[in-house]
Amino acid sequence: MFNTLSDRLTSTFKNLRAKGRLSEADIDATIREIRRALLDADVAVPVVREFSATVRERALSSEVSGALNPAQQVVKIVNEELVGILGGESRGLRFSKTPPTVIMLAGLQGAGKTTLAGKLALHLREQGHTPLLVAADLQRPNAVTQLSVVADRAGVPVFAPHPGNQSGVEVDDVIGDPVAVAREGVETARQRQHDVVIVDTAGRLGLDAVLMQQASDIRDAVQPDEVLFVIDAMIGQDAVATAKAFEEGVDFTGVVLTKLDGDARGGAALSVRGVTGRPILFASTGEKLTDFEAFHPDRMASRILD
Ligand code: GDP
Repeated sequence: MFNTLSDRLTSTFKNLRAKGRLSEADIDATIREIRRALLDADVAVPVVREFSATVRERALSSEVSGALNPAQQVVKIVNEELVGILGGESRGLRFSKTPPTVIMLAGLQGAGKTTLAGKLALHLREQGHTPLLVAADLQRPNAVTQLSVVADRAGVPVFAPHPGNQSGVEVDDVIGDPVAVAREGVETARQRQHDVVIVDTAGRLGLDAVLMQQASDIRDAVQPDEVLFVIDAMIGQDAVATAKAFEEGVDFTGVVLTKLDGDARGGAALSVRGVTGRPILFASTGEKLTDFEAFHPDRMASRILD
């Protein structure tokens, strides 16, 4: 991830270092290169526009520090602004004062929600929490089975609409009301004194009104403390439309980026916070349950500028 963007920015800064003093024209040429590199990395146009304008303004009025030469000064500004568009401070999960804390997952099919449910459950279990997973994705025939498998791997129980599913048996006739399953799952967590409950919901391949309504109904029914929008970092330019649709549809509280291990250009990672204003909480970096980390904007910016 970010290899091309990283290379492009590195060579831009190398050219800059070759110059001693920087004229306004030098700064403008640099900003143009940065803008092109970001657009080629699929970063959303409004995010690129704002980023470039801020970097330009700050570079021109450069708060010259004695310790840094002009080129280093520009790199420092770009780094700070990258941290800014990635969200500034990192933020962890918000836990409810009255357990269980309810976490709902939403996103397109294939984004990595079910895998994330297992990752999050394992992460929370390792921190001493007692999560319950709830299988409210009744759209895909084997989604319930898949959730049972990751729950097993994470060593946590799963609440599923059909007793047969809990043993990991493949079923293709799951019928039921996902809203009722979600509600019952949260109630079960309360009764069995699980302090966190993670509700997996259905995704579709494209955006559709039925999916949004269902996610929104589940949200209303279980009143989650966190609604995590799970987005595949490989999605490129579609990230903006998808994120906005989910923002309007379910009004999520945080973002999880998946497939950051992939070979994509990274635009989604850099756009999603800028276009929704919601923080990125976690990053998923592979198929194993341990390929998962808290998201730190400063570390991500350093990776890009390395
Ligand atoms: P869902 O439809 O949103 O529930 O998505 P799944 O959890 O079923 O994931 C879809 C596919 O992406 C599966 O093959 C996962 O193994 C894979 N996957 C999920 N997260 C990651 C990740 O961070 N990196 C990679 N490389 N693959 C992932």
